[in-house]
Amino acid sequence: MVRLFDVPREVAQVAYVLEAAGFEAFLVGGCVRNLMIGATPKDWDITTDATPNEIIALFPKTFYENEYGTVGVVNEEIPVDDVARASLRVVEVTPFRKEGGYSDFRRPDKVEFVTKLEEDLERRDFTMNAIAYSISLDEIADPYGGSEDIDRELIRAVGRPEERFGEDALRVLRAIRLSAELGFAIEEATMDGIRVSAALLAHIAQERIRDEFSKLLLSKRPMEGIVLAHRLGVLKYIVPELEEGIGCEQNGDHIYEVWEHNLRALQHAADREWPLHVRMAAVLHDVSKPETRQWSDEKNDWTFYGHDVVGGKRAKRILERLRYPKQFIEEVSTLVRYHLFFSDIDKITLSAVRRLVANVGPELVWDLMNVRACDRIGMGRPKETPYRLRKYQSMIEEAMRAPVSVGMLKIDGAGVMEVTGEKPGPRIGWILHALFEEVLDVPENNTKEFLEGRAEELAAMPDEDLRKLGEAGRERKEGEEEKEVKAIRAKYGVK
Ligand code: ATP
Ligand code: MG
Repeated sequence: MVRLFDVPREVAQVAYVLEAAGFEAFLVGGCVRNLMIGATPKDWDITTDATPNEIIALFPKTFYENEYGTVGVVNEEIPVDDVARASLRVVEVTPFRKEGGYSDFRRPDKVEFVTKLEEDLERRDFTMNAIAYSISLDEIADPYGGSEDIDRELIRAVGRPEERFGEDALRVLRAIRLSAELGFAIEEATMDGIRVSAALLAHIAQERIRDEFSKLLLSKRPMEGIVLAHRLGVLKYIVPELEEGIGCEQNGDHIYEVWEHNLRALQHAADREWPLHVRMAAVLHDVSKPETRQWSDEKNDWTFYGHDVVGGKRAKRILERLRYPKQFIEEVSTLVRYHLFFSDIDKITLSAVRRLVANVGPELVWDLMNVRACDRIGMGRPKETPYRLRKYQSMIEEAMRAPVSVGMLKIDGAGVMEVTGEKPGPRIGWILHALFEEVLDVPENNTKEFLEGRAEELAAMPDEDLRKLGEAGRERKEGEEEKEVKAIRAKYGVK
């Protein structure tokens, strides 16, 4: 039999258990939407006429999730660290419910469990999210024409848009985020509803706004999403600071105003599938350009002195307001603060690069290079990494490279003296360098046992022979270092 959708066995099993106990069970929401589109569902939601206690009684391991009666059904056969099947480990089962009275524009005053699927679908936000699928019957319930809207690639509110956005203003942002994720347009009346209701976002908790904003940045089309949020009057309730860049003309090399430049930088990070903190830094990197802009008669152009330092602090305040975690804020504001690290090619010294690595930290330095690439592409440049940037990357790798030295040996001077009974003096250095030479040839010999044994043999040699061996080791070390640096430079195609 050809089935409508392939549902993983682990998920179907949860529905079958509910049905065997006499309840109804349907897949619903984002997973059904994604199955219809042909995208991979992020999580699996089941809706049922069983109550939370009835659900809990049917499964060996569950946890009670939220005030809406959602029960997480845990599949313990899937190990916690099984990343590939992570979305199958917990299937969320929520009782049919309807909501009533939204006096604060964000939360229902009361949640009521109901017995009919239709009543549950009615409270959902968009038609494409209000489709239920019975796995056992292989049948769809779609009272609001969600599948047609999916075919037309349209996001349409269930019921009267204004009313639905008035119940929970977060839906305004969900519409824009889903549009950026799926590449769907927003239907006309729904769009009007968003325009009228945008101001209600002021009542929504920053944490909920944050989560949608992160999903928007992580979508395939964050630039389109932010432009749409601006046009619909929504962006000013998320990051109004970005709108200061509109009409803010830049200097010499820039063909785009600050607004478009920031968005293009962000879009490049998304095209490269870089992580959230890089995307956030890309969109915020020039957030303080408008406030630091000054005309210079001398240069006959605009200047933006200090926009990196001011911008780093401003990024921090923006992200604190949105309640991002501390470490995330630290990373993004550091990337914004140091995004101007560049200097002329002849001024890039190893010590300057070391200072940069010390300032941003070795964990972030490659992300900083990527923010820089976003900055360039955001300026309309055709290439991410011109010679100058590649030179910089090469120098970073040189600066961070563990030095080739006797320090890598699994024995040190004190160890040599202990096993050989030698007194402090040049012979210790010769022995270490001779050992070093042997380990370069046969890296497996770098063990405490082997080196202690060899040290004893070497200690039996007269001064002159030992000195020769030691000096050969020292020369070899310099040669090895040179080879490594050459290899790094070749990798980046720089001299
Ligand atoms: P994602 O792919 O990001 O998981 P989703 O649509 O599944 O998208 P969820 O937050 O997992 O989003 O919500 C699951 C379902 O619950 C939605 O598809 C929708 O039917 C309903 N829903 C979620 N949030 C709201 C809301 N604020 N108002 C009305 N219905 C909502
Ligand atoms: Mg979901």
